[in-house]
Amino acid sequence: MKISGLALKKLIKEQLTDLSSGNEKISCPSATQDIKMNTDNRNAARENHSYGPLNPAKPSIEFWQSIAEKWNATTDEAMSSRCANCVAFDESPRMKDCMPLVDEELDRKFPDDVPGLDKSQHPIQFGYCWMHHFKCLSVRTCDTWAGGGPITDNETSNKWQTKTGVDT
Ligand code: SF4
Repeated sequence: MKISGLALKKLIKEQLTDLSSGNEKISCPSATQDIKMNTDNRNAARENHSYGPLNPAKPSIEFWQSIAEKWNATTDEAMSSRCANCVAFDESPRMKDCMPLVDEELDRKFPDDVPGLDKSQHPIQFGYCWMHHFKCLSVRTCDTWAGGGPITDNETSNKWQTKTGVDT
């Protein structure tokens, strides 16, 4: 395909603008596009890092107590530490574009607050986990949770992708 000088100039200008604004387009992480990879990684997070609870709409007291014990924390502290506020939880616009339709049905599945979490502060949604590489649910957690999240902007999302070396 032949590209005109004018079109080429426009393309270069757009790329430079993206780069200078930190919006350079990098590919979606493979696990957002490959259902089997996502499922395998989620199962590994369940088995090795206690990703859960299975049903966040239920109290799941045993689950939260076991997480609290691992962290030497109270059950309330454990229940307030969710993917939603984990440093590795990516809900940036560009990541949402990588995972279209993924949040459909969540309002129907979780019409009310889940135990221990206020929906008005932490919406129930999927994000991408940069530690374990799968689509994780904001109201769950795992034993590698770390505060400081979520990731809400494309620039930080891109940095995580570069840092983790996934599909770059
Ligand atoms: S590392 Fe963070 S975002 Fe990933 S599953 Fe664990 S709590 Fe959720």
